[in-house]
Amino acid sequence: MENEKKISVAIDGPSGAGKSTIARRTARTLGLVYVDTGAIYRTVGYHAYRSGIDPTDAASVAALLPELRISMDYGEDGLQRMYRNDEDVTEQIRLPEISMFTSHVSALPEVRAFLLEMQRRMAWEYSVVMDGRDIGTVVLPDADVKIFLTASAEDRARRRYKELMERGTPKGFDELLQEIEQRDYNDSHRAASPLRPAEGAVRLDTTGNTFEQSLQQVLAIIKERTGL
Ligand code: C5P
Repeated sequence: MENEKKISVAIDGPSGAGKSTIARRTARTLGLVYVDTGAIYRTVGYHAYRSGIDPTDAASVAALLPELRISMDYGEDGLQRMYRNDEDVTEQIRLPEISMFTSHVSALPEVRAFLLEMQRRMAWEYSVVMDGRDIGTVVLPDADVKIFLTASAEDRARRRYKELMERGTPKGFDELLQEIEQRDYNDSHRAASPLRPAEGAVRLDTTGNTFEQSLQQVLAIIKERTGL
């Protein structure tokens, strides 16, 4: 059967720019499916962590992939739940040590190739708001709307600080800032799919914005391009 035309919105940008919160709310407002690709990469990072291997060792990470089954579903709250071989790892993948592991494993072309089909299939089956690092450049180069969302490293570290505090797993601001800068560097300097704005992407700097302001800007960009 012919697949009817689906709308796709690609939102890329560095860690902590508010992408996932904005993308989730955007999807809910417009009745689209939200796909958090960071969570998918984090599931690979978590798998590598639990396997006790060096996440920078490409051969060891690649050897793990054939035995890894990743799946996801959506709770009533719209939260994307992640499963590693049927084990629900939704909460575990958010731990700070998993962030760093993920940043390493996601630099490997083997890992990116492993996850590419899964991401494209989501956009084939549903109208989506997909957020990540290379959605507009690699995964969905023909997305209807591409947005590159960013904010200063300090602003992003402040948000992360607040988030971890609220979650009951606090961490020092300086350490978080350093981690964010390190992840930015890793994500934008890797050879495979480095973080950069896609051709035709609208750049949106959310430094100093309230969440509501950023959300409205994103909705306006989507409306202008798709009429949604
Ligand atoms: O967005 P989030 O911080 O959850 O992503 C975790 C890590 O996964 C990032 O630091 C990045 O290294 C990687 N990632 C990626 N490509 C994506 C999404 C995430 O490389 N599309």
